[in-house]
Amino acid sequence: MVELLCNLIAQKSISGHEHGAVELLASWAHTRKLFVDLWSNSDSELTNQFGPLTPHISLDGRPTIVIGLRGRGSGKNLMFNGHSDVVGVSDSSRWSCDPWSGVRRDGAVIGRGACDCKGPIVSALWALKSLSATFPDGLAGDVLLEVVPGEEDCVGLGTMTSVARGYRADGCIVLEPTRNRPRRASRSGIRFEVATIGEAVHGTVKWLGVDAIQLMRKVLDSLEEIERDRTDDPMDGLFDDYPILRPITVDKVESRSSQGTLCERCVAIGYLELLPGDKMEAAKARFQDELLKRCHGKGVAKNRVVIQFGEQYLGHCTPSSDPFCEVARRSAAASGVRIDGDLGAFNSGCEAGVRWSLHSTPTVVWGPGDLANAHAIDESIAIEEMAACAEIFARTAIEWSGREVET
Ligand SMILES: [Zn+2]
Repeated sequence: MVELLCNLIAQKSISGHEHGAVELLASWAHTRKLFVDLWSNSDSELTNQFGPLTPHISLDGRPTIVIGLRGRGSGKNLMFNGHSDVVGVSDSSRWSCDPWSGVRRDGAVIGRGACDCKGPIVSALWALKSLSATFPDGLAGDVLLEVVPGEEDCVGLGTMTSVARGYRADGCIVLEPTRNRPRRASRSGIRFEVATIGEAVHGTVKWLGVDAIQLMRKVLDSLEEIERDRTDDPMDGLFDDYPILRPITVDKVESRSSQGTLCERCVAIGYLELLPGDKMEAAKARFQDELLKRCHGKGVAKNRVVIQFGEQYLGHCTPSSDPFCEVARRSAAASGVRIDGDLGAFNSGCEAGVRWSLHSTPTVVWGPGDLANAHAIDESIAIEEMAACAEIFARTAIEWSGREVET
């Protein structure tokens, strides 16, 4: 388990460069005689089927793979969904080890992608391995794992490649770090870009110009206020485990200016994370309206702030009464992962929205590791938790897909 995870981490599969990791998975699965389907889609194939896509890195050379056990067609199909890409490392000198080698230390594996989501993928592979040993002819239903590209640069795009290929599921487990607790909902989200427009003049006569960086300061303050104040429609407390109901995260601020000159254009780019019940167009209109109003209140003229939207993705919300949630809850409990009350929500966007919105596929987000560790310095995963998860996943598959009943 550890060896496979370290090898996967060593495949530096930053979005757009997923092929090495996917080929490694293919050869691992071939050796174990599992079903393997490996292919790539073009962007136009997806556009023809799904309509215009949000901005993303071209799909050229970014394969999708489906691995698993074909069933006998008499049970429910289960699909695990993981993403092969990882985020980059901005400063590897701040890590305690090489982020791209996979280091075992104190019962954990450290490396980029360890918990998001190569560790969870390894748990699913281990479940498949043990199922194929116990049920060499498969279960009643399919138990498959789709590993898709591009979750980190365009959420949902990769799962569309698998839907376009014709894969359907009666239940879906999206592999993300949830500390082995199944989560029945996930966030929608929108990528935004806010530009402030200044007037460049020499810094010594700054009173004659307008500084786009100073305007941006007011934009950032306003975003913080919007994040703090927007607490309406909390969806029956589904996201109550988290202190911020709708996080707004700026991940990039760029300015265009010459040395010693007032900045003429500054841009902030980030994500507005929503609840699965929020309507996209209404959320955009509200964001735009609130931001302009608050900036105006700080003395920024409306024509000095330009807002645009890019990538967007849908969340999901499987009803707590769905049989798939019940199976998940029982399987987790059998391994000592007790859940009192509601399964609750995953505090992020993920691939769950695609199958949920297209086919109402009952979906839970589930896997070892902690989201607090994802994208972080010294990203890690506990080996014991990964092994426990593999057992839970195998049990879930047996209970959901069913053994073949002899008649
Ligand atoms: Zn992830």
